[in-house]
Amino acid sequence: MDEILEKQNIDVAVIGAGPSGLSAAITLKKSGIQRVVVLEREAVAGGIPRHCGHPPFGIREFQRILTGPTYSKKLVEEAQNVGVIIKLKTTVTMLFSGGKLSITSPDGGKQLTAKRVLLATGIRETPCSARMVSASRSLGIFNTGALQSMIYLKNLIPFRRPIIVGTEIVSYSALLTCRNAGIQPVSMLEEKAHSTVRWPIYMLGRWLGVPLLLQTSIVKILGKERVEAVEISDGNGQMKKIVCDGVLFTGQYLPESSLARISHLEFDPKTNSPKVDEFGRCSDPVYYAAGNVVQPTQDQAKVPIYYTAENLPNPVYAAWQCWKQGRATAKNIFKDLAGTLPSFSH
Ligand SMILES: Cc1cc2nc3c(=O)[nH]c(=O)nc-3n(C[C@H](O)[C@H](O)[C@H](O)COP(=O)(O)OP(=O)(O)OC[C@H]3O[C@@H](n4cnc5c(N)ncnc54)[C@H](O)[C@@H]3O)c2cc1C
Repeated sequence: MDEILEKQNIDVAVIGAGPSGLSAAITLKKSGIQRVVVLEREAVAGGIPRHCGHPPFGIREFQRILTGPTYSKKLVEEAQNVGVIIKLKTTVTMLFSGGKLSITSPDGGKQLTAKRVLLATGIRETPCSARMVSASRSLGIFNTGALQSMIYLKNLIPFRRPIIVGTEIVSYSALLTCRNAGIQPVSMLEEKAHSTVRWPIYMLGRWLGVPLLLQTSIVKILGKERVEAVEISDGNGQMKKIVCDGVLFTGQYLPESSLARISHLEFDPKTNSPKVDEFGRCSDPVYYAAGNVVQPTQDQAKVPIYYTAENLPNPVYAAWQCWKQGRATAKNIFKDLAGTLPSFSH
């Protein structure tokens, strides 16, 4: 791998080893592209499903019902079997025109150039710091992704009686994660008058003994060292204190698009994504993007069956959809390298 990096001999560099990046890399190798390198900042490849310790993953990809971690492992194995090089603990910090990248890894910083680059950096939940909630840096404030990685990857239990903020599908996944770990949330909070998901999913909280407080928002997190309580405001502006030892902020997805935002690529502030054409190609045609880093506009997005149309949050694709998008974009990159993709027009 380092020889390829030293010689700057890369056909396609994929940024991100989640379902979209891995499926694209596998497709490219299977199509005969020689030097395909996946750059992943984490110590383990696989993306978000690595810490989704529940099924159903893999039905379309492997014709089996798998948990997230098993699904990730199978994707990584497939990539390695076809000769994809996966460089872990390697963060891409800057994109330049013509496919030049700055990277940092335990070996230090360097630059490399690839003939084509695929951005497959995924999506994250909005953290506490961006939610206009007053809080000091007390222990016990998490997103679902961080909670799941603590529980499923590190066997750590960060709290016992948290508040869950949000009622998106991922909020109920957080609820199940808590249940599996023996954590009993105090309640779920939703700013709107209805849960974001449809019946019967929103009943899950009640079945698990977790009350749902509607038209309620979190205003302040109390506790200096650790979370000790939260102040909430109900629809009438009445303030109330709830004792808890953690706060779990769920949903409100944001594409992991800071690389595109700070680079020369055209950026769509409405979707917070790099602008792409119908082939997944960015404004610099050496660059492509696929998976959850590219968000559809609200009117392009299909309403998943578990959401009510009026409550549709920021769209997010499931793992199989990102896997499929990665494959489709890889086929376009292959055509591009062969000179058969229609020329670029933005
Ligand atoms: C908390 C949470 C729970 C979810 N639960 C489910 C679920 O249960 N089922 C489901 O189908 N979908 C779920 N999703 C949706 C999830 O986004 C998709 O399943 C899928 O993982 C998206 O694939 P991806 O390849 O686009 O991105 P990801 O899986 O997010 O992979 C992106 C990869 O890029 C890497 N990366 C990012 N920036 C850089 C950089 N600068 N340099 C190097 N590497 C970088 C990341 O470390 C990551 O490994 C969930 C999402 C979240 C946030």
